[in-house]
Amino acid sequence: MFKIPKTHPRYESLMKREKLVAGIEAGITSKQGLIAHGRGEAFDYLIGERTLNSAKRATEAAATLLLTAKKPVISVNGNVAALATKEVIELSELINAPLEVNIFYRTEERAMKIKEHLGKQGAANVLGDKADARIPGIEHARAKVDKDGIYSADVVLAPLEDGDRCEALVKMGKKVITIDLNPLSRTTRHATVSIVDDIGRAMKNLISIVKEKKKGKGKENLLEDYDNKENLKEVIKEMMKRLKEEEL
Ligand code: ATP
Repeated sequence: MFKIPKTHPRYESLMKREKLVAGIEAGITSKQGLIAHGRGEAFDYLIGERTLNSAKRATEAAATLLLTAKKPVISVNGNVAALATKEVIELSELINAPLEVNIFYRTEERAMKIKEHLGKQGAANVLGDKADARIPGIEHARAKVDKDGIYSADVVLAPLEDGDRCEALVKMGKKVITIDLNPLSRTTRHATVSIVDDIGRAMKNLISIVKEKKKGKGKENLLEDYDNKENLKEVIKEMMKRLKEEEL
């Protein structure tokens, strides 16, 4: 990995790029994943590279959904595996949910490498190599899922998901939580709860809220008055307010 000095003003952002490049070299991240990350980076600039209040609200709703789920599953793709390995493993233990390797540009070799990578980092329950069921309405290998995982889950946390698949999962009757910096993407529009934030920040917040809720603290029943479309409108409002206030 290229050594970035900690004093660099864009240290965190550059380190994320290094992690993705390392992911490509290790065969777990796709080249297309770099482009998807670039789109995310642009939106992160617009929100000031910090967690918006609307994202905090969505994260609260996501934590409630995960903790009240009967069969939650966490979907892991090549970018998630490179950028938030430790976080997805920690959350999977906290909510007792398996991780499932689920990749858009699927090759069996890459799916296996992601599974091994998660295993080496300590993940005990990783699905996705079997991929013995299909998401209806989706063509080609990207429809493949595990019958005991995403296929039969009631709640799926699918960070950095593709809009098409998100929509198909919702059509199957699942509740889908996504993490996506683009408030205009089809994924954020279709998901049940969309956390518009960087994957690293969002996962850390989600873990700490889940821990609080497990201790019986934190807001209860937030889901009842959570409306994803309204919350996305708030994201755009917060984004515009910041842009208007930005001094050039
Ligand atoms: P959609 O299909 O949902 O309309 P898309 O075509 O942009 O959107 P992808 O190309 O699959 O979807 O990209 C995944 C999404 O992940 C992008 O919308 C991007 O904003 C988001 N993204 C990329 N990197 C990050 C990150 N580090 N944290 C959060 N979101 C990210």
